[in-house]
Amino acid sequence: MSQPEKRTTALALYPEDIHEAASLLKQAVPLMMRHNIAPNPVHYALWYTYSKGQEPELNRHLDRAVEDFDCFSAESATRLFREYIIQDELEEARVGQQQAIDLVDGMEHTVSSNLEGNLNFQASLGHCMEMLEAPVEERLPSLLSELQQSTQLMQEQQELFLSQLHAAQGEIKNLRDKLERAQLAATLDGLTQVFNRDTFTRLLEQTLINAPERVALVMLDIDHFKQFNDRYGHPLGDRVLQHVGQLLRNALPPQAIAARYGGEEFCVVLKDCSDIDSVYAFAEQLRLKFRSLRIKARNMDEVLETITASFGIALVEQGDSVESLVTRADDALYQAKRNGRNQVQ
Ligand code: GH3
Ligand code: MG
Ligand code: MG
Repeated sequence: MSQPEKRTTALALYPEDIHEAASLLKQAVPLMMRHNIAPNPVHYALWYTYSKGQEPELNRHLDRAVEDFDCFSAESATRLFREYIIQDELEEARVGQQQAIDLVDGMEHTVSSNLEGNLNFQASLGHCMEMLEAPVEERLPSLLSELQQSTQLMQEQQELFLSQLHAAQGEIKNLRDKLERAQLAATLDGLTQVFNRDTFTRLLEQTLINAPERVALVMLDIDHFKQFNDRYGHPLGDRVLQHVGQLLRNALPPQAIAARYGGEEFCVVLKDCSDIDSVYAFAEQLRLKFRSLRIKARNMDEVLETITASFGIALVEQGDSVESLVTRADDALYQAKRNGRNQVQ
């Protein structure tokens, strides 16, 4: 027998055009009638293929079957149909089935046990339904016990599922917190934990757009800080900067923003503030707090020299940009330095 071509679709089994197919069927139907073969799809397919004559072995089987009609049972028809007509498709179906089984096996690890519990419960319910068809009195105790067992099992699995869900939610929350912390960290100055200069510029820009008429800016610069570093070293200078950051954060009124503008220069944006006296009072308070900072070197009782800072303040004016407002506050700061430092201008 010649090896049949690999067939991929059911229609590929019957490549004949309508005329060829009709003529094959015209041969097949009288044969079936002659041998008293029931007109069903399996028989049609067999006798159609018989008429084509491409499967001599099938033809021999069918010839034998009609000689001894008793042999041509539904089973033999089905067997011949499988063997000669849908052989390749069966093989493909088997491979497909195996793939599906492998897939489901793989999924088993990921699908929650909850699903399994539900399926068990469903199966158990089905079983109980079947049992109900028998006289109820006999079956009731075992029926109830089965239901109870499977309900309990499902409850346990639901609880397990819930706890897994909670764990997953907890993990998501941790991740979200981490992300928020990372986002916040990107806006802060690492050493002093006040906003960095980029964030200061961005926030002041927004403030000038949203509520431009009530903004004030305080700029400050530590006095003789180079000298401090030279005398005590940079690490201690860094600690001073950390203390300044803390001092500013603690002194901020609501809505105010503190930032490190650069080096040992900081600024505070005050919102809802439109009179220069209250800005002055705020800066003066800061100045006194700077002066009372008590810095000690590690392992030493002695308090190091007093830290002072100079301040420049400015109120927003019509049409101000970040740059023009900063320039006015910086000019005032420069004036404070020139006038002897440790003061507000
Ligand atoms: P003035 O009173 O005129 O402001 O004098 P000054 O010495 O503070 O001014 P200047 O701007 O000349 O020097 C600023 C110094 O600040 C220089 C540098 O050593 C120090 N500085 C800037 N950034 C840091 C920092 O991150 N850590 C430390 N330890 N020092 C810094
Ligand atoms: Mg300085
Ligand atoms: Mg400076």
